[in-house]
Order: sequence, then C-alpha cells, then structure tokens
Amino acid sequence: MTTRRDFHRRSLEDREGFWAEQALLVDWFRPFESVLDYSSPPFVRWFVGGQTNLCHNAVDRHLAARGDQPALVWISTEVNETQSYTYRELLTEVRRAAAMMRALGVDTGDRVIIYMPNVPEAVFAILACARIGAVHSVVFGGFAAASLAARIDDARPALMVTADAGSRMGKLVRYKPLVDESIALARHPPDKVLVFNRGLDPELQMVEGRDIDWQALAARTGGQDVGCEWLESNAPSYILYTSGTTGSPKGVQRDVGGHAVALAASMKHIYCGEAGETMFATSDIGWAVGHSYIIYGPLIAGMTSILYEGVPVRPDAGVWWRIVQDYGVSVMFSAPTAIRVLKKHDPAYLTQYDLSSLKHLFLAGEPLDEPTHRWIHEGLGRPVIDHYWQTETGWPVLTAMPGVESIPIKYGSPSFPAYGYDVRLLRESDGSEAGAGEKAVVAIVPPLPPGCMSTVWGDDERYVQTYFSTFSHTFVYSTFDWGTRDADGYFYTLGRTDDVINVAGHRLGTREIEEAVNAHPNIAECAVVGVADSLKGQMPLAFAVAKDGARLGSADGRRSFEQEVMHTVDRQLGAVARPRAVHFVTLLPKTRSGKTLRRAIQALAEGRDPGDLTTIEDPSALDQIRDALLRG
Ligand code: AMP
Repeated sequence: MTTRRDFHRRSLEDREGFWAEQALLVDWFRPFESVLDYSSPPFVRWFVGGQTNLCHNAVDRHLAARGDQPALVWISTEVNETQSYTYRELLTEVRRAAAMMRALGVDTGDRVIIYMPNVPEAVFAILACARIGAVHSVVFGGFAAASLAARIDDARPALMVTADAGSRMGKLVRYKPLVDESIALARHPPDKVLVFNRGLDPELQMVEGRDIDWQALAARTGGQDVGCEWLESNAPSYILYTSGTTGSPKGVQRDVGGHAVALAASMKHIYCGEAGETMFATSDIGWAVGHSYIIYGPLIAGMTSILYEGVPVRPDAGVWWRIVQDYGVSVMFSAPTAIRVLKKHDPAYLTQYDLSSLKHLFLAGEPLDEPTHRWIHEGLGRPVIDHYWQTETGWPVLTAMPGVESIPIKYGSPSFPAYGYDVRLLRESDGSEAGAGEKAVVAIVPPLPPGCMSTVWGDDERYVQTYFSTFSHTFVYSTFDWGTRDADGYFYTLGRTDDVINVAGHRLGTREIEEAVNAHPNIAECAVVGVADSLKGQMPLAFAVAKDGARLGSADGRRSFEQEVMHTVDRQLGAVARPRAVHFVTLLPKTRSGKTLRRAIQALAEGRDPGDLTTIEDPSALDQIRDALLRG
C-alpha cells in the first residue's frame, strides 16, 4: 500500500514515470512522444505530440460501457424542473451544439464566450467547443456588461452563446440584455450570438441578422455527426478570466491533454469518484470548480454529474442533503460560504436524510474556519475535507488524498501538498524557507504539474511577470496566499498577500472595484479594502473622495450618493462586487510617494492596529477613516 508521502515523493522525483502512468487514465488518439518538455521555463508542455480530445474523453468513450447511464442530471429548484441525460443523450445534444457552432462558422482555435446560467445547454455548448477544438471562455453570470466587454475584447470571440435569463431566489435574472450592452461597449464584438430561449423572459429581444435562436438552428442542423477534432496535447482548451491586482482580468489558459490527465487523476486519488457513481458540485459553471468538477472531472471519470440551479436554502435548508439521498451522491463539493449559510438554519436538516452514499464532502474556494468545519463534520457524520486550489491550478494544490491513503483530518487545515506540486513556504523578505509555525508565502517550485494554467491568454510576458517574479533570487510560482505549517506538516492558509479579496468564494481584485467606484462621475478617487464578514468571509468596503462634496453635508445626501456609487459598481462589475458601504472622506491615507495605505485602512476597518505608519503623508487622513467608520 503506497503512503501519501511516497506517492508525493515519487511524483516529484520521477515526474515522467508518474505522469505517464496517470496518462493511462484517458484515451489518446495518437500517443505522446515525450511526457514533458521543460526547455523554456516556466513554460511547460505536457504529453508533447500526443493527440486527444476532452469531449471524447468526457462523453464518446463512455458510450460502449455506460451509454444508458445518466451522465448529467439538471436539478433546478428555481423553476422546479429536473432533466436527466444519459451518456448517449448527452452525446446527441453535444453533437447538435457542435453542428450549430460549425454552421455559424466557428473553427478550431476560435474563441466562444459562454454567458449562461446553470442549465444543461451551457454544458452542451462547453463540450461542443471542446469537441470541435474551439476555445471556450465561460463568464460567470454575476458579472456586468463592462466586465463582459473587457473579456470580449481580450478573447475576441467568433461567437457568444447566452440564454434569455436565469433565476435566483425566484427572481428573474436577465442575461441577454447584458450581452447586448457588452457588445455595444466592446471594440471587438462577435458577429453572431446564439441565444437559448428558456421562455423565462417575456421581454427577450433578438437583434436581426446577429442573434440566432438555439432551438430554431438546432432543428435545422440536428442529426449531423460532428466528430471530435484531435488536438495536440498543448493546444488551448479554454480561457477563464480571473481577478488579479491590476484592473484588467487575466485570461487563465489551459491545455487539452494535461488538463484531461490531471482531472482524471484527481478524480481517482483525491475525490475517490468511481465510474457509475454520482458527483454533486454545487458551484456555477462560470467558476473553475464548475469547469473541473461539474463538467470535465466527473464526466471523464464516467460518473453522473449533478448540475444544480438554485440556492442551498430553497425550498428549505435540507435541499442539498435530499439530493444526496435521492441520487446516491458519493462525492460532493461545495464552498465554506454555503455551509455558513446552512449554519443559520436548523441542524436537524443535516440528519434528516440518508447520507450513507456520501464518501466525502470537499470544500474549497476560501478559508474554512475551524468552527464551520467542525459543525458540518459533526452534523453530517461524514468526512469533510478542506482543500485548497486556485483558478490557475485547476485542481487541488493542498489536500488530503483519500484515494491514496486515509489520513486524520485537522479542522481548519487543507492538509498536505497534492502529488505533482512541490509546495514551499517562503519568507517574503528573501525567499528563504520558513520554519514550522512561521507565516510565509505559499509558493510552488516549477514545473507546475499537468492541468495548471499554461499561460495568460495572449500574454506570455504577463504570465511570467505576474506569477514568477515575487522573489528576486528564487524562481517559483507564487500563489499570492499566506500559509503556515504545524509541527506535523499540516498546512494552514492565512489569506492573500496581494490586493485580491474573496467574497463568498468569489475572487475579486480591490483595484477592479476601485475602478468601478471611480466610474461614478462625481468620485475623484477611492480606496477599496476587504473586511472580515461572518457569512461571506470578506466584503469590500469603499472609502471615496467626492469631486463635489455639496451633498455630503446631510445624512440623506450621503445615503443617496452612496446608493448611486453602489449602482455604478453593479453596472460596471456586477452585484457580487458591491461594497458593504461607501464612506466619504476628503483625503485618503497615502505614503509620501503617493501609494494608498490599504493595509492600514483594512486594519482600522477590522478594529486592528494600523501598524507601521512612518511613511504616511498626512496622519489626519487616518482620523477621517476612523471617524467615517464610527459614523457607520
Ligand atoms: P479562485 O481562483 O477564485 O478559486 O480563488 C483562489 C483563492 O481562493 C486562493 O488563492 C485562496 O486565496 C482562496 N482559497 C481557495 N481554497 C481555499 C481554501 N481551502 N482555504 C483557504 N483559501 C482558499
């Protein structure tokens, strides 16, 4: 029996042997010539010369053994509907979507932006892109038109796919008007928009000559057999935009072969998901978790994947556990915020259903505090595993690996580095290795394993500059997270080292939010910081300087100005980024060289000591922050 320690050691000491073995978990049309090419660090090419296809591995190859097994089960507690697709039916739908894309002129290598709620058609569109070798870029529905426009201009898609609307807590959430708005704002809009009309929005408007109705086109192109395009392992499979320290989002680019192998391996060694079993990831298809663990991972493993549209507490706080019971879910994946939401409800919901099928509940996306970890573990009576990863890595970096060895779980810890990752804790000052108990930067010695981002879309230089330039003498990938290790080697993460905040598991750059606040015509400048929030982990808080302060003399004037600024953020970025409050000041605390002292502001907002202030230009600026916080 291999131990997790030996497994990890071998993955680093014999990378080629280790990953060649994992590569057997997927189908190759043409075998690879070499396992890895690391001749141009930090760029790494995995399974060089091999040809494969993600859609083939996720769908076609299962037809013989499990054509009649459900592949995708869509459960919407928003519109009270359930639909189930066997692998055979999924293939038919994906072929149909692929035929539509071909008919609309989408070629291999072209980009397709998908802006859709959690509906099966979104999965068909994603897999159809993979099938024809088009590069999909799914944008989370919570993002507003200006964010979508920025992504359009970066990806320059040949096609956009959308739906009329989604639904949240029973309320209509329009998608199509945002696409229209973003196309009006974009410099490089696509010629065509494919629209799946769910019949939710009676006011849906189609643009003549540009918008195509999904069902009408499907009726014309249905039945065509569009085969899988065999792609070289390192061809791009998708782009997923993520927030960083600068205002412009980064396109995380992933490959084909390494991605397939990494996900297949993670299903086996980490998630313990067997073919024929059911996986339930409660995420949105617009996030990395949705890509890896609603779509590709479970389908590559031959599992049934549940796609859920809804919230965890409607119709009641037992809805997810009822799904686990009814569908015999063996692997579940969710986020700490969702658990904190459930914690506000009767714990009896956790014990009302038969959860014996559930092998593990995995949680990720943000720090899992110890009380929440304990509450959900004790409440469910099933193992709950905290694990840590990022959009950039695509699969877990720090995790227990129950498929390799069962280890004791410590509350609040994502355990140990996963195979393939040479994780180090490095001192911020000089990049040297930190000792046990010392807070340091979580870094990974390259080459990064298969499945991690290959580069920033269209900008190799930015990839190197952003991720590999943290330390002057140590060439490592920085996760931009603080971490520490206890005497037993268990890791703990301690928040971001950069200006990125995590709101309910959604990663947002404070600079992006500042740009959105600044878009209000009467804002001169602002500072946005993340402050601790008992439900969402963190929330943005804005401090703004008005160009014209005439309205700020009265509480009513301040309140209406604050509302306007919040609406500006909604329109620019989306409601996910809306600050908890906007405080008005006449001066921001800055250093003499003009840098805003965000860490000092954040400390005050969280009731902590603001720390070293020797470089501050005007100390009265901090008094203004204190007063504004007191005013509330
Ligand atoms: P995203 O790329 O949006 O998934 O966000 C990744 C970031 O979320 C990481 O860099 C961490 O800051 C945070 N994160 C993800 N998983 C965990 C976890 N298990 N514990 C603590 N932080 C996490």
